[in-house]
Amino acid sequence: MVLQKNDICRIEIEDIGSQGEGIGKLQGFPVFVKDAVPGDVAEIRITKIKKTYAYGRLEKVITPSPFRIEPPCPFHRQCGGCQIQAISYEKQLEFKNRKVKNHLIRIAGMSPETVERLLEPPVGMEGKEIPLRYRNKAQFPFGRDKEGKIITGFYAGRTHHIIANTDCLLGVEENQAILEKVLAYMEAYDVPPYDESTGSGLVRHVLIRKGFATGQLMVCLVINGHTLPGQEALMASLREIPGMTGISINCNCDRTNVILGSRTKLLWGDLKIEDNIGGIRFRISPRSFYQVNPVQTEAIYNQVLEYAQLTGKETVWDLYCGIGTISLFLAQRAKYVYGVELVPEAIRDAEENAVLNGIENVEFYLGKAEDILPDQYEREGIFADVMVVDPPRKGCDDACLTTMLAMQPKRIVYVSCDSATLARDLKVLTEGGYEVRKARVFDNFPNSVHVEVVTLLQLSN
Ligand code: SAH
Repeated sequence: MVLQKNDICRIEIEDIGSQGEGIGKLQGFPVFVKDAVPGDVAEIRITKIKKTYAYGRLEKVITPSPFRIEPPCPFHRQCGGCQIQAISYEKQLEFKNRKVKNHLIRIAGMSPETVERLLEPPVGMEGKEIPLRYRNKAQFPFGRDKEGKIITGFYAGRTHHIIANTDCLLGVEENQAILEKVLAYMEAYDVPPYDESTGSGLVRHVLIRKGFATGQLMVCLVINGHTLPGQEALMASLREIPGMTGISINCNCDRTNVILGSRTKLLWGDLKIEDNIGGIRFRISPRSFYQVNPVQTEAIYNQVLEYAQLTGKETVWDLYCGIGTISLFLAQRAKYVYGVELVPEAIRDAEENAVLNGIENVEFYLGKAEDILPDQYEREGIFADVMVVDPPRKGCDDACLTTMLAMQPKRIVYVSCDSATLARDLKVLTEGGYEVRKARVFDNFPNSVHVEVVTLLQLSN
């Protein structure tokens, strides 16, 4: 019998797909089933049939997988944030490690034996059975429900449909109090949420950040305008929350999916919050990047330090340096560190952070890594013993990789938040004379499919 749309079938789930979906086989055909867990025997409805695979919707779990757990969040199936919350944490880690292995084999072209040998055991979050409340940052969209009531929460998977929920379990407990206060203020002062379809309305997002080490809290309202009516009342209300350090607005009047606009205005307190990792203090602007999971971040930075094998004599380049976190970590053990970063606020933060920590052997460049590095290499003949790169998901630009190869640092430490682009770039670097020596998965994003990898490359003789 040929598989048809709307067929109800029984399936055994054998694997996890890259988006966290369960994968089983029907008539030799892979079927992707969102919310199904490897080991489940389930009843599904076929929703879409392609040439070589199909999609199904989970109707009923007949025999639950031994790895299935009761997800703590009631919204986990609708919400786009946590794709694998129904899977035991041990299995989540195993899945992430395997995903990275597969990318290294299939995309970077490494042999399974090599990958097996160099991949160190994954570093997951310790302590709780299922890690929650680990994120120090969240951005909540605002909108209206069907009845026209103002809501905030999270986008449903792959849509801009908002699921009302002020207490995401990955975020800090203070988020809820802040969001309830913003909602109450909007109702009281008749402040409309932004409407993407018309470009009207005012409040687009609320960005909240907490310094885990300091307890400081920052709230930034992203608005489709330049002022907030009755802002005094909102500030008074938000200031009641313990730890509140700064309240700001960010003006974004563009019809865009990009959350933050270019202008941020301080309404009260300090525009930046302070945090510290591994004994180094960091001040962070609303628009600067800062790792969202501070516990795992410290583990990653220590790994970078270990792989960098610094003796105090090295010149180091830290590309995609953000607010200078890794640069300052390394500067304590290197002769000199140069950081490169695209966002002007982040570079200013990096410079301030160097001063704040009394670290003088660092210098920061503002611009794209793929522009700054070739330019500095060609004009100034710069040199590096060690290079660290920590690019966004799209990985390193070709021009950047080409210059890295030309500069021939002894070691490259690649920190990646997307193992597919990491593997692509490793292929270029290994073909250019480097050898992957070690790699390690860090779980910065429990319950989601995302993963961080730190890799050490060594220049071959
Ligand atoms: N290493 C830092 C930041 C990593 S996130 C940390 O651990 O905190 C990646 C950073 O790269 C972001 O700060 C982003 O603004 C920056 N970025 C993105 N594209 C870039 C480019 N082409 N050149 C330089 N920096 C870039």
